Amino acid sequence: MTQHFDLLTIGGGSAGVAASNRAASYGARCLLIEKGRLGGTCVNVGCVPKKIMWNAAQIAHAIEDAPDYGFTVERTGFDWARLKHERDQHVRDLNGHYARYLASNKVEVVQGSARFVAPRTVEVDGRRYSATHVLIATGGHPIVPEVPGANLGITSDGFFDLEQLPRKVAIIGAGYIAAELAGVLHALGSEVTLVLRREQLVMSFDPMLRDNLMEHMRADDIEFLTNSQIKGLQREADGTVTIHCDSGTRAGGFDTVIWAVGRAPNTRALDLNATGLAADQLGFVITDEFQETGVEGIYAVGDVTGRAALTPVAIAAGRRLADRLFGGMKDRRLSYENIPTVMFSHPPVGTVGLTEPQAVLHYGAQAVKVYQARFTPMLHAFTKRKVKTAMKLVVAGPEERVVGCHIIGPGADEMLQGFAVAVQMGATKRDFDDTVAIHPTVSEELVTLRNARPATV
Ligand SMILES: Cc1cc2nc3c(=O)[nH]c(=O)nc-3n(C[C@H](O)[C@H](O)[C@H](O)COP(=O)(O)OP(=O)(O)OC[C@H]3O[C@@H](n4cnc5c(N)ncnc54)[C@H](O)[C@@H]3O)c2cc1C
Repeated sequence: MTQHFDLLTIGGGSAGVAASNRAASYGARCLLIEKGRLGGTCVNVGCVPKKIMWNAAQIAHAIEDAPDYGFTVERTGFDWARLKHERDQHVRDLNGHYARYLASNKVEVVQGSARFVAPRTVEVDGRRYSATHVLIATGGHPIVPEVPGANLGITSDGFFDLEQLPRKVAIIGAGYIAAELAGVLHALGSEVTLVLRREQLVMSFDPMLRDNLMEHMRADDIEFLTNSQIKGLQREADGTVTIHCDSGTRAGGFDTVIWAVGRAPNTRALDLNATGLAADQLGFVITDEFQETGVEGIYAVGDVTGRAALTPVAIAAGRRLADRLFGGMKDRRLSYENIPTVMFSHPPVGTVGLTEPQAVLHYGAQAVKVYQARFTPMLHAFTKRKVKTAMKLVVAGPEERVVGCHIIGPGADEMLQGFAVAVQMGATKRDFDDTVAIHPTVSEELVTLRNARPATV
């Protein structure tokens, strides 16, 4: 017999859990199907364990700076196994928290892999479930390219399974996950090489951010292998791995190689053909502004849609969908504009709105101006390890509306959220200037920037 629900959600990650809990709060009868651990990517192999590793790396840097502030400290050891144990325990606690919260909201949870057998009916281990509304929130997984020896590398999932700190590691990829893992591993003591297909990291970010980040990384002795397309990986007699590139370049001696070359959607196991809904060439589920798939009663939210793959985006889109379907808010939806984001690199990056090139494309070069600063923050005024801060406001039109805000440097991660509110509200440069600075901070520079330059085309 097929059990029927108001909302059936496939995937118990950020999007699925948020949508189910919100729908249940309106009295909807909800079923959530999850094949792995509750919390999905963010909790188990994404934001949460990543941020813990980033915190550890921050502490390592603080120990380096401590003698310059008069402390007699020395880094005599680092217990990776202990950190992993504490981190894994924290993640298990969160898995339990998610289960209890869903239960307290009376969301039924079924453990197993769901597959469509009809447009709004799925099967899990031989049992069938149907619903008036079905939400696909199956997220994604890291890509491993099909090259010889690819399985000698691990992915970001495997990074969280590592039982010890790699001695020498190659990270293949130019996105934010590659940059973050490089910073963490370097700070904790690994020798790090970043292998880039082109010249630069994080191509989607403002050029000022990526130039500064690469400069910092190079100063930290992180190696870059640029314009390198991987042809294959090879295990050597001594157990290390060698990377072979198309250009003929080789780099060797790695005990760990990490693929960080992008993520693909989890749609294959769903058997989407049984629903008649459309996926794009890469398998991402195509949705409109209301997260509708084009097949009545089937929606998709989060990473599986291929739009702004971030936890708060998945949560917000999921909750708003539930508000619309069950909370009587008929126009409720998530706007994908001005999504702030932080890259937990070393130093961190915070960015919201348009990059300088995007603003030029959107408004025309004549209408865009840039306010910019680069300086050594007081924290590093006299430390041997120098970390610079750089910031940029991109403004458009005669009223100088702030359409982009980009920061790299210590504290950028915590600084951005408030400025994102201002950008979202349509603040002008004048609004920034009229805000009294907080002194002495780094963020005060953002409300005291002077001397605009024309945008560069
Ligand atoms: C290393 C890393 C670091 C990250 N850091 C950040 C960060 O700092 N900040 C940030 O905002 N975002 C970060 N992200 C991105 C963030 O984790 C994702 O955007 C977010 O988890 C997406 O949520 P989701 O619900 O769409 O998918 P997921 O969280 O991936 O959840 C999907 C769930 O569906 C389940 N599933 C899949 N197929 C089926 C099926 N057929 N049947 C049943 N269940 C199924 C999966 O097991 C999974 O639990 C990071 C990601 C990674 C990989």
